[in-house]
Amino acid sequence: MQGVMIVTGGSQGIGAAVARLAGARGYAVALTYQSNAALADAVVADITAGGGRAIAIQAEMAEEAAILRVFDQVDRALGRLTALVNNAGTPGPTGRLDTVTAEVLDRVLAINVRAPFLTTREAIARMATDRGGAGGAIVNVSSRASELGGAGEWVHYAATKGALDSLTVGAAKELALRGIRVNAVSPGLIETDLHARAGLPDRIARMQGGVPMGRAGSAAEVAEAVLWLLSDQASYITGSIIPVSGGR
Ligand code: NAP
Repeated sequence: MQGVMIVTGGSQGIGAAVARLAGARGYAVALTYQSNAALADAVVADITAGGGRAIAIQAEMAEEAAILRVFDQVDRALGRLTALVNNAGTPGPTGRLDTVTAEVLDRVLAINVRAPFLTTREAIARMATDRGGAGGAIVNVSSRASELGGAGEWVHYAATKGALDSLTVGAAKELALRGIRVNAVSPGLIETDLHARAGLPDRIARMQGGVPMGRAGSAAEVAEAVLWLLSDQASYITGSIIPVSGGR
C-alpha cells in the first residue's frame, strides 16, 4: 500500500480524478464531499471495483467540527494519514468588485483558506516525524487566478488562492525538517462543472482560445501532477507551485 490519503472535494471534478488515480496507484483513499453523496459513492465504487480501498465522508469544509470528524474517521477506518490533498474549493458567485458582499467574502475565505489551514494542522499532528508520524506530503489545489487576478469575474476567489499559495510556501518551510513536503498545483482552465455551477456555463468555450495550448485541460491531467508531487519521485520538491494550465 502507498499510504493513506484524504482528498477534500473528491466527489467530482479534479478531486474525483485525484481520488481515482490515487486508488489505482495503491493509496487507501478517503474522499470528502459537501452534498453529492451519489457522485462520491460512485468514485468509491470505481476504486473498490479496481481492487482499491476507499471511503466517502460528507463534510462541510466551512465547519471546523466537520473537518475534525473527517480526520477522526480516517484514523479509525484507514489508519495513519500520509497524504493530504486540499482540493475542495469554490469561486463563489461571480461579479465585479463593486458587488462583493461580506457574506461572500466570509464564505469563500472559510472554504478556500480557513479549511486548508485547519486540515494542514490536523495532518501535521498525524504526519510530522516529531509528533510520532512517519512523514508525508500535502498538495494544495490553487489556481492560476492567484496571479491572473480574476478581474471582472471573481477577484475574491483569486485572492483566496493567493492566500493558499502563501500557506503552501510557509508550510513547506516550517515542515521541511519534520518529514512533510508541501506543494501546490495551479490549474488553469479545466473542464469541470465548477464553471456552470458558478453561473458561467459557456466559460470554457469562451476562454479556451486564449490558452496558449488552445484548449481547456482535463481533471485527469491535473491529477497526474498531484500524484507526482505526492510521490517519492518528487522527494526533493517542497514549496513549489506548479502551473497545470496549458501555458496560461
Ligand atoms: P467542482 O467540480 O465544482 O468540485 C468541487 C468539489 O469540492 C466537489 O467535490 C464539492 O462537493 C466540493 N466542495 C465544494 N464546496 C464545498 C464545501 N463547502 N465543503 C465541502 N466540499 C465542498 O470543482 P473543480 O473544478 O474540480 O475544482 C476543484 C479545485 O480546483 C477547487 O479548489 C478549484 O478552485 C480549483 N480549480 C479549478 C479550476 C477549473 O477550471 N475547474 C481551475 C483552477 C483551480 P459536492 O460535489 O458535494 O458539491
